[in-house]
Amino acid sequence: MSRLPTDPDYLLRHDNSSMSPPLPQTTIAQALQQTRPDIAVTDARMLLQSVLNVSHAHLIAHPSQELAPEQAQQFYSLAARRAAGEPVAYLVGEREFYSLNFKVTPAVLIPRPETELLVDLALGRVSTERPCKVLDLGTGSGAVAIAIAKHRPLASITAVDSSETAIVIARMNAKHLVATNVRMLAGDWFSGVAGEEFDLIVSNPPYVADGDPHLEQGDLRFEPHTALAAGSDGLDCIRCIITSAMVHLSTGGWLLLEHGYDQAAACRQLLSKAGFSEVFSHPDLAGTMRVSGGKRQNSPAQSC
Ligand code: GLN
Repeated sequence: MSRLPTDPDYLLRHDNSSMSPPLPQTTIAQALQQTRPDIAVTDARMLLQSVLNVSHAHLIAHPSQELAPEQAQQFYSLAARRAAGEPVAYLVGEREFYSLNFKVTPAVLIPRPETELLVDLALGRVSTERPCKVLDLGTGSGAVAIAIAKHRPLASITAVDSSETAIVIARMNAKHLVATNVRMLAGDWFSGVAGEEFDLIVSNPPYVADGDPHLEQGDLRFEPHTALAAGSDGLDCIRCIITSAMVHLSTGGWLLLEHGYDQAAACRQLLSKAGFSEVFSHPDLAGTMRVSGGKRQNSPAQSC
């Protein structure tokens, strides 16, 4: 847990009581300086950009710009919440993923850089020239589905999540990012797509083991438990998806799954056992095996 702000001026500035003396003027540079070392300077910048509604370049170029008293108060209050552990993405209400800006709330997982690999591998399997059907299971904010949709306008993407609130946020993201080729459905895994077949199924499911101490650390403490934890070995959802995916895949279709750093071998084994061919695992940029997949084989193979 980060330590709480201790600087007396800093505390004075975000004291909401009516007894507070008027706030002295604060510049951008002073505001950033005041929150050190309680929060990382990169986090302070993101909070201040959000409060002032300006770019990173603007902060750098205008260190002497003065904050209005309400802006200063709002900034110090967000900084205090960050110091107490709340994720920056929830405090500012957005996170960039695949160069797109997604709205996020504590009802959805914060999109992670390593999940961009899932999108890369998916795009490699979706034609740019003909229509394709793609299913994203456990879409959360809609990040994976919408990133695929924006890069493959001919594809039709179906995104499902068991959380109605997540679906509301995913729809909001599809609207503001103008992704018109995505439909969002509330429901458990394949329950909303009975009888449908897809050329590609992708998922970043919950995959953390129930007792994993990471669930009690950092950003994960504030994220929806149901989007993270999946049974004693973290593989409950992955097992469920792999077992049911084959009947929803068209000939030559692929299943791609993100998983934990130590789950690649187990995933490949589950995929092979379920009858998938060309089973593989792929490392993320940190060199960790992060996505595994397999193909529904038969003849003649007709990948999308
Ligand atoms: N990659 C996330 C983490 O461990 C977990 C996300 C997930 O369970 N899908 O921080």
